[in-house]
Amino acid sequence: MTTAPTRTVRTRFAPSPTGFLHLGGARTALFSWAFARHHQGQFVLRIEDTDLERSSTEAVQAILDGMAWLGMEPDEGPHYQMQRNPRHREVLQQLLDSGHAYYCYSTPEEVEAMRERARSTGQKPRYDGTWRPEPGKTLPPVPKGHDPVVRFRNPIDGAVTWDDMVKGPISVANSELDDLIIARPDGTPTYNFCVVVDDWDMDITHVIRGDDHVNNTPRQINILQALGATVPVYGHVPMILGPDGQTLSKRHGAVSVMEYDTSGYLPQAMVNYLARLGWSHGDDELFTREQLVAWFDGSHLSRSPAQWDQKKLNWVNAHYLRELAPADLAQRVAPRITALGGSADTVDLPAVMALLQPRAETLNDLAEGAMLFCGPYTPAPQDLRDDVLTDNALVLLRAFEQQASQLDDWRAETLSALIKTLLKEQGAKMPHLAIPLRVAVTGQRQTPSVDAVLAIIGKETVLERIRAVL
Ligand code: GLU
Repeated sequence: MTTAPTRTVRTRFAPSPTGFLHLGGARTALFSWAFARHHQGQFVLRIEDTDLERSSTEAVQAILDGMAWLGMEPDEGPHYQMQRNPRHREVLQQLLDSGHAYYCYSTPEEVEAMRERARSTGQKPRYDGTWRPEPGKTLPPVPKGHDPVVRFRNPIDGAVTWDDMVKGPISVANSELDDLIIARPDGTPTYNFCVVVDDWDMDITHVIRGDDHVNNTPRQINILQALGATVPVYGHVPMILGPDGQTLSKRHGAVSVMEYDTSGYLPQAMVNYLARLGWSHGDDELFTREQLVAWFDGSHLSRSPAQWDQKKLNWVNAHYLRELAPADLAQRVAPRITALGGSADTVDLPAVMALLQPRAETLNDLAEGAMLFCGPYTPAPQDLRDDVLTDNALVLLRAFEQQASQLDDWRAETLSALIKTLLKEQGAKMPHLAIPLRVAVTGQRQTPSVDAVLAIIGKETVLERIRAVL
């Protein structure tokens, strides 16, 4: 158990809108969402769109769509970082006024030369502090003709220490940290600085993000401290790796959460599966959203990278598919049948769903399975007929056709009883009749349970198709 926070918990998800919502981002958002919900706090969405060249409104929409699909609606936002530019500049000025930041006129070439000098003497490459004001130090004359950057005056001594929710205590010596550029020559504040101001203004108590940001954290903490802000709790979640141990990417299949919607995964399955990537609650593999919220107190976050396991996701999805009522499934699957060129209106689709449900892993499996009933009927190819519709088989089919045509009740149970009696009478075994029936009625050798298939296809069509092969 972690200790209960004393302030109202406010977490944020701060994606840069440069593409779709990818699995890693969705998992980070989910952790932030669940943690806020667990503590009856707020989950804030902040779109970090300051990189104008890479950001797009389509990407913003993709992120919103992905979050809505997963049911992670923010309590606040989206805030757009770009719109906060005046505030960022204001805080920048505040740091300049308080002496925590300074103008630096060194050109990029000069900084590179400083780094080179440091490297050649075996030191860490860094800015040498030429423009850093110190008591009693005279700064060089301001050169004409070029605009300065603003640098943060990082403390020289001591260390930045924080107790990471995921990684535990981390300490970084200030001597390791350069005086970070917090505004460019044109005055625009840089990424790390905007994040700090926004986390501060938005009163964020817990920053849960990917561990690719862990190097930014000591710098951000120093800036927060210079501003007199309360430093949030940080948690850096390890990457998600593909089955080959490499960072998850397109190579491993879909990386956008919405592609999982397209492929027939249920949002509740995705939420369940994503939550287990880097977090656990005992041996629980299947849990509801409510359980996730009840359990997600910030403990049991794994320090090692999680591995994407498609088989497990399929297993989780299959579980949630089986939990849905056939009528609900029918509604979700109907558009997918249409997309496959089938027509869902002419069959009892809930009955089809009930039949396919026990074995399906995705909504797309269901749609494909349903094409047996919703797609155009193609009679069996000649070689399959030659193979299956032997003289003996035709005897059985004829007997079935005669008896079945007398039936008023065309339910699977009745058909099953009829088939059993008939087999007994004829001294035959199930496959002797079931396979010819399938081939005659569906054109395929393999289908789900034959009595259920015949029941769904309907008396008239079944008898018509059998007669056509007799
Ligand atoms: N905008 C950053 C990203 O998309 C996240 C920043 C943060 O969480 O602090 O990687």
